[in-house]
Amino acid sequence: MSLGDIIGQEKAVAMLLGILRRQRVASSYLFCGESGVGKKTAAINFAKAMNCLNTTVRSQESGETKNSKKEYSHLTPVPSPLTSSDACDACESCLKIEAGTHPDFLLVSPEERQIRIEEIRSVDEALSFKPFEGRKKIVVVDDAEAMNISAANAFLKTLEEPPEDSVIILVSSKPDLLPATIRSRCSRINFVPLTADSSMKVIGRTIEGQEALELVARLSMGRPGYALSSDLSEERSWFLDLLKGMLGAEKDGWTSRDDMERWFDQGLIFFRDIAVLAITGDPARLINIDLRNYMAGFSKSLDIKGIIYIHQELSRLRRLLLFNLNKSITWNYTASLLRKELAG
Ligand SMILES: [Zn+2]
Repeated sequence: MSLGDIIGQEKAVAMLLGILRRQRVASSYLFCGESGVGKKTAAINFAKAMNCLNTTVRSQESGETKNSKKEYSHLTPVPSPLTSSDACDACESCLKIEAGTHPDFLLVSPEERQIRIEEIRSVDEALSFKPFEGRKKIVVVDDAEAMNISAANAFLKTLEEPPEDSVIILVSSKPDLLPATIRSRCSRINFVPLTADSSMKVIGRTIEGQEALELVARLSMGRPGYALSSDLSEERSWFLDLLKGMLGAEKDGWTSRDDMERWFDQGLIFFRDIAVLAITGDPARLINIDLRNYMAGFSKSLDIKGIIYIHQELSRLRRLLLFNLNKSITWNYTASLLRKELAG
C-alpha cells in the first residue's frame, strides 16, 4: 500500500504528502493518536515514499522535475507517467521497506513492554552511516512511550544532533508519557479515531458478512487496527467469562498485566453500553449490539448512578494500571465493587 491507500486519516495523510511534495522533510516526527488507528502503517508508508525509486517531485526553486528514477533506472522497471510524491508500492525500495529488509530502514518496538538503551544504541549505530541505497535513513520507533529513562536520555542526544539524511519517526498512543524534551524536538502529526464507515472499510478487507463486520467495527471503536490484531468477539467472550467468575467470587483470573489492561478496556465498553441502554433505552446505540438482552438484565439491576459509578471506578483503575497495581488485590477490589453495586 501507499499513503494514499490509508483510510480515514485524510488530514494526516494530506500533511505528509504535502511535506513530501514540498521536500520539507523534518529530521524527527511524532505520530500521535489512539492505538489501532493507522499510525505505524502511515509511518512505514511515509518511509516508503521518502525512498521510493519512482516518485517525481517538482523542485520549487527551479520548477524542474527532479526524477529519482534516472539514477536508479538500472534497478527497477519504471511505470509512467510519474506525477506523485507518494510511494509507488512496486519498486525494489518500497518492497524492501514493506518486508523490513531495506538497509536504510529500521523499525524498533518494545520488548517486554520496554525500549531499552541497547535498542537506542542500535538506532544510533544505524544512523551513523550514510544511506546505503535510499535518499534517507529512516528509523520508526513504535510505542515510543515505552522507552525507559536511560533510553529516553540517550535518544534525546540523537534528536538534538540528528545525523544528516536521517529521519526519525516516533509512534505513540500515549505521547504525554514521553519526556517534554523529546516531544518538543519532533514535528507532531495527529491521527484520529476512524468513523464507523471508515472502520468498516478497513476491517472489510478481512471479515466477511455484513452483520459480523458491523459488530466488529462497533467493537473496535474507531480503531480498526485493534480489530485486525485480535479476534474481538473472542476477546469479548474472554472478558465475559472472567466477569462471571468475578461475580461468582472466583479467584483472580488474570495471568498478566496485559490481561488486566485488556479486561478493563472491555469492561469500560461493556458498562458504557449498559449506561447508554439505561439512559436512552435504544439498543441501536450499543457497541455490543448483539448482547442487548444480556445488557438489559444488567441495566435493570442497577440504577444510573450505580452504573456511572462503576464506569468511573473502572476507568480510574484502568489509569492506575500504569503504576503496577497488584493483580489479586485489584481483582478482589473490582469484584467487591461490582457485587456491592449489583446487589443494590
Ligand atoms: Zn516505490
